[in-house]
Amino acid sequence: MKVLVPVKRVVDYNVKIRVKSDQSGVETANVKMSMNPFDEIANEQAIRLKEKGTATEIVAVSLGEQKCQETLRTALAMGADRAIHVVTDAELQPLAVAKCLKAIAVREEPGLILLGKQAIDDDSNQTGQMLAALLGWAQATFVSKLEIADGKATCGREVDEGIETIEVTLPAIITVDLRLNEPRYASLPNIMKAKKKQIDSLTPEELGVDVAPRLVYTHFEEPPKRQAGVRVESVDELVGKLKSEAGVI
Ligand code: AMP
Repeated sequence: MKVLVPVKRVVDYNVKIRVKSDQSGVETANVKMSMNPFDEIANEQAIRLKEKGTATEIVAVSLGEQKCQETLRTALAMGADRAIHVVTDAELQPLAVAKCLKAIAVREEPGLILLGKQAIDDDSNQTGQMLAALLGWAQATFVSKLEIADGKATCGREVDEGIETIEVTLPAIITVDLRLNEPRYASLPNIMKAKKKQIDSLTPEELGVDVAPRLVYTHFEEPPKRQAGVRVESVDELVGKLKSEAGVI
């Protein structure tokens, strides 16, 4: 079974986000970028499926600017077999990504597409669901436990009440949650080997997809600064402050 793993290049999760001075977006110049953490988990799961003999080939896919190749090299160094880069400098919204991934799925015919549950830059949590709808495939979202056998995936999903278990028939879309696994680090020999692995480049036009944004962001702003807290000595003092200073009781 071939597994497709879409991996997005995002601002590293350790970076403190800054809004551009003209409020048109988030500052990405001179900012450390990394693979979306949920996509690392998806890639790790694909590698574990291959180690178990369930998957035969892992194809990592990234859409975006030229530097996405670095993200793909990381996926390859972790253990993906080859990669596809959909090259575009356009602003990509989830529907455009889902349409491109559909076109790739039609060409590649994977048995499973493993995505992150969301990208930590725009927190959309839409691409997997849209892709499932476009392909007409089954989907399981927020998956934190996964077993594959007899053409079916048994998925534990993190929901408010706990873990819900559902079974989906392959080919399917699965979006992964934090607790599914702990991704491995790429070893130095594997980083070297990854340099020789194949990355095919395509454009959205070659895939027949119009990626023009359907939504317009008007402006971005920082959340209001929080005031420093104060430590109170007693409940009486707390109640007094809530009455006289905060005015909430
Ligand atoms: P989102 O719907 O934007 O929160 O993204 C959900 C998932 O879709 C991500 O975790 C990735 O697996 C995939 N994805 C979104 N955008 C891209 C992209 N530009 N390149 C590759 N994968 C993407």
